[in-house]
Amino acid sequence: MDAPPTDAVSLTDVAVRFRTKKRDVTALADVSLTVAPGEFVALVGPSGCGKSTLLKLVAGLLAPTTGEVHLGGERVRGPRHDIGYVFQRAALLEWRSARRNILLQAEMRKMPGDLARRRTAELIAMTGLDGFEDAYPHELSGGMQQRVALCRALLHAPPVLLMDEPFGALDALTREQMNTELHRIWRETGTTVLLVTHSIAEACYLADRVVVMSPRPGTITEVIHVGLPAERDYTDVMGRREFRDATGHIRGLLGAAHGDE
Ligand code: ADP
Ligand code: MG
Repeated sequence: MDAPPTDAVSLTDVAVRFRTKKRDVTALADVSLTVAPGEFVALVGPSGCGKSTLLKLVAGLLAPTTGEVHLGGERVRGPRHDIGYVFQRAALLEWRSARRNILLQAEMRKMPGDLARRRTAELIAMTGLDGFEDAYPHELSGGMQQRVALCRALLHAPPVLLMDEPFGALDALTREQMNTELHRIWRETGTTVLLVTHSIAEACYLADRVVVMSPRPGTITEVIHVGLPAERDYTDVMGRREFRDATGHIRGLLGAAHGDE
């Protein structure tokens, strides 16, 4: 019998407690989750429920208080290089062009120059940044800056991409465009994605499964399988029954107070 495929990411009975002088905070409790290779999983939940903490565990930037985290079948014991990370703020270096911001990843990882330049050119084409290679961050719109951040995160072809509210600072229209493009890029690259978002619509449009978390201490309330077809047009998806069922259900779980843009 074949061995089961290795999970891209797994968290087993994870808890995270932060001890500060003033108080102890349990950020995550009793979290178990597995993500299959190539899967797109979104995390939604109230502010402060431990979503960013969960991504930091996977990246190895933080150790769980109890439980285990595995990435590509290997126990995470420190910062991992086989991930890409995109944050809400693009955090580009102002004095470097778009291309040289992307190449920063290669410099940090000491990638061979030829490979780095070839990958950069491919990613620039894939993310629609052609013609903006030599622009500086202040010359780029917020959406363009996030494309550069995405290229930088994907340069070393990480098997797992972590995204923490990557489109939270963008206007609604740009956000929709970025969603459409991220979906295409995800299909083209086959990368496993863990996306934290405040938007239920974004989560359901992009993800195979949406993990709904409870208020602190963050636990997993429910995992929803969205079930949209692989080919998805943004406008078409909004009218689909699977989409409306999933967003409605999640809105119910999070409480009517949860606004969605
Ligand atoms: P989310 O991303 O879901 O908004 P976070 O993962 O950032 O939530 O934080 C979860 C909880 O843990 C919050 O209450 C936050 O204040 C707390 N927390 C996060 N990081 C630290 C830290 N380094 N020290 C103390 N408390 C922290
Ligand atoms: Mg956060």
